[in-house]
Amino acid sequence: MMYQTAARKHTLALLKSERRYLTAATIYHLLKPASPKLALSTIYRTLEALREGGTVSSRVDEHGEASYIYCGEKHHHHAICKQCGHVDEVDCDAIDAFTTALLNKQSFRLDDHSIEFYGLCVRCN
Ligand SMILES: [Zn+2]
Ligand SMILES: [Zn+2]
Ligand SMILES: [Zn+2]
Repeated sequence: MMYQTAARKHTLALLKSERRYLTAATIYHLLKPASPKLALSTIYRTLEALREGGTVSSRVDEHGEASYIYCGEKHHHHAICKQCGHVDEVDCDAIDAFTTALLNKQSFRLDDHSIEFYGLCVRCN
């Protein structure tokens, strides 16, 4: 149990410091030098627990591989750099207008949404 707590602490600290999506395997390789006893299966379990807790989000890439990022509590979207994978957080204000338009034009009531933006970050621009 102690072990699980340490894995959680280290995984969370890593995700908070990296502003990009990381796969379980990448996290495993980054944490391994400092925590040689860490198992990949523990990382998977930890990531799922964090995702269920709501502070970590996941996405699945075109190869079906899941990756994870720290998001905290506040609702926002991600602008993902196509070149380096850097993730910027984007406020969601514009969605209110979109939701109203959708309701008026198509009588569709929007309950939830998931949007990603792609482009080049300030360093790759
Ligand atoms: Zn986020
Ligand atoms: Zn970039
Ligand atoms: Zn939103």
